Amino acid sequence: MTDSTGCCIVGGGPAGAVLALLLARRGVPVALLEARDDFDRAFRGDTVHPSTLEMLDDIGLADPLLARDHARMRRMTLQSGGTTAVLADFTRLRSRFPYIAMIPQAEFLDFIVGEARKHACFELRLGARVTDLIVEGGAVRGVRCRDGEGVERELRATLTVAADGRASRVRQLAGFVPRRNAATMDVMWLVLPRGDGERAADMTGFRIARGRLVVVLARPREWQLGYTVLKGSSRAVREAGLDALRAELAALLPELADRMDAIRGWQDVHFLSVESSRIPTWHREGLLAIGDAAHVMSPIGGVGINYAIQDAVAGANLLAGPLLAGHLTRGHLAAVQRRRRLPTWFIQTVQALVQRQLVARALRDEPFRLPWPARIAPAVPWLRDLPAWLVGWGIRPERVRQAPHRRLAGAADGG
Ligand SMILES: Cc1cc2nc3c(=O)[nH]c(=O)nc-3n(C[C@H](O)[C@H](O)[C@H](O)COP(=O)(O)OP(=O)(O)OC[C@H]3O[C@@H](n4cnc5c(N)ncnc54)[C@H](O)[C@@H]3O)c2cc1C
Repeated sequence: MTDSTGCCIVGGGPAGAVLALLLARRGVPVALLEARDDFDRAFRGDTVHPSTLEMLDDIGLADPLLARDHARMRRMTLQSGGTTAVLADFTRLRSRFPYIAMIPQAEFLDFIVGEARKHACFELRLGARVTDLIVEGGAVRGVRCRDGEGVERELRATLTVAADGRASRVRQLAGFVPRRNAATMDVMWLVLPRGDGERAADMTGFRIARGRLVVVLARPREWQLGYTVLKGSSRAVREAGLDALRAELAALLPELADRMDAIRGWQDVHFLSVESSRIPTWHREGLLAIGDAAHVMSPIGGVGINYAIQDAVAGANLLAGPLLAGHLTRGHLAAVQRRRRLPTWFIQTVQALVQRQLVARALRDEPFRLPWPARIAPAVPWLRDLPAWLVGWGIRPERVRQAPHRRLAGAADGG
């Protein structure tokens, strides 16, 4: 069975869903193919940054999204040896949204796809796993996929987008090989219950003690913990047993020691093999890779979702016109990579520095000092604001072109 569309997006994660919405609202016929039957996904990151909220505000969607249940992360701290340093203070960002909104990713995707469905040119195919590319004369002309009933289908498209994540099948089929940067850590994610009166401001950030490091994030009704270990040493944690893990976490987070029995078994501990990589070229004739398919981010700063979304915005801005006019060229696809290459490279470089200088040293229980810019930052306003700017905005944040809802400068409110 064969049919056709303007843009076939493989993968209904943040990158694919946002690209589908932005193209559909410009009138581009778009099909979003997602291998799974739903958008439910545990521990895939719930961090929606100011850059994403501002972009959604461009199209009138920030307030409806924020009407859903969420928590707000306003500061990120580092507690070590009895001292607390503010690593990033988002309240100082000049934005309507001076915080990171913690919204379950399933909820976020459900919202974005719900908005896309309002456009007649959008089509969602759940349970559609892409297995092959249609290639003619060296150019990609669509995909072959297996639907939920196991039926093989072909979908021809002017443009195919690989937004199928860190283990991208489409990237592999297209012949793109990622270059990996050294990763020094792995993370074990879990949640503990959060009481009504427990304030996020007092807890959110890094805790470091005796060669142990945990990241604490506030969800609306839970604390999300990222127990961080040196790469390859999660096996030793498992062998030491669950009681030892509970004891380590209780020592790092005495405030939460009373609820460690909420970790009932290893099924409650989700392992993330940290990776950092990117492919040298994101495009070939008829095909573009975005999001994790183009660059896998370390979890430092929780920027993976937002960089995936920024690629989608750049893609929609640069490709909607040529797709509508029917003259999409490889040059248009190259322009998307050119636009996103510097921000991606820059944040990956900063993440590698933080991994080496802070995380790896802390985990080896080596004496570490914050780098000198962080030490003098409290006294230098622009340095103090830099981490929040870098994490919250990044270099060259993308805004939606042709956004009738964009607020006039100066019309911002409190947030
Ligand atoms: C455990 C974990 C925790 C994380 N925590 C954070 C965090 O706190 N903050 C943050 O910003 N980032 C976090 N990340 C990273 C973040 O999840 C990714 O950077 C982000 O989801 C990338 O979005 P994406 O749309 O490019 O890919 P993905 O979100 O990976 O979406 C890809 C989609 O493609 C689908 N797919 C795959 N293969 C096929 C196929 N052959 N056919 C059709 N569909 C297919 C998948 O089912 C998936 O839905 C985390 C990642 C992991 C693994």
